[in-house]
Amino acid sequence: MPETTLQEPHDWRPNRFMVIVAHPDDADFGPAATAAKWIDAGSVGRLVCCTSGDAGGDDWRIDPLELAATREAEQLAAAAAVGYEGVAFLHQPDGALANDLALREQLVREIRTFRPDAVLAMDPETLFHHDGGINHTDHRAAGIAAVDAVYPAARNAMSFPWLARDGLAPYTVRRLYLFWSNSPSAWVDTTATLARRIGALRAHASQIRHPEKLDERMRAWARAEGTAIGADAADAFRVIVIEEDEPAPGESEGAAAS
Ligand SMILES: [Zn+2]
Repeated sequence: MPETTLQEPHDWRPNRFMVIVAHPDDADFGPAATAAKWIDAGSVGRLVCCTSGDAGGDDWRIDPLELAATREAEQLAAAAAVGYEGVAFLHQPDGALANDLALREQLVREIRTFRPDAVLAMDPETLFHHDGGINHTDHRAAGIAAVDAVYPAARNAMSFPWLARDGLAPYTVRRLYLFWSNSPSAWVDTTATLARRIGALRAHASQIRHPEKLDERMRAWARAEGTAIGADAADAFRVIVIEEDEPAPGESEGAAAS
């Protein structure tokens, strides 16, 4: 039995959501089971990879462009398993991602085009993971760039004014879901979609060193997160509500599909 009081499972659901990550595979090691659950319930999801993972290998003789092409193909297969409507690759450099104006403009363009209710991104405040290890510099850069793109840039008419002149109107994202956080505040029960997440992860063949251990490893991670809500599997998020709902999407059945 858990020693602490159980949290209520988090059941808000966006009609449209965007997952913003640094590398191909981050979304599948991250919130893929939540994405699959929301998509199954009628949400539309889009994935944005800031880099194509061109530094994600151990062999310096490999052509980075070749590796990037492999990893994009792996991510497209994984995204199809999760059910995203599409994937955008921003082609920023792996290992050198910076929260600069160029990246933020790319993200604002994505957000204003897709108009998500919620953006899922890596918690940029995670420098060291609570269970050990250092959080990759690209993860922190992608996280803070996503936060800065959501607020204020995407909603501010005078940020990147040429975007508005091109017809991309300012847009307000209402919630941020930060994953890989050391300060989680919400747990989504992913018991029903954990297997889909593991299947998506298997598509990243170039990145999985011990595929025979993947299943148990991912189930153990999800089980550890699930203890907070007494579920077999969960994804944990630090949720930032930027604007309250009116009306609330996903809180009443049928609202999301209309
Ligand atoms: Zn990564």
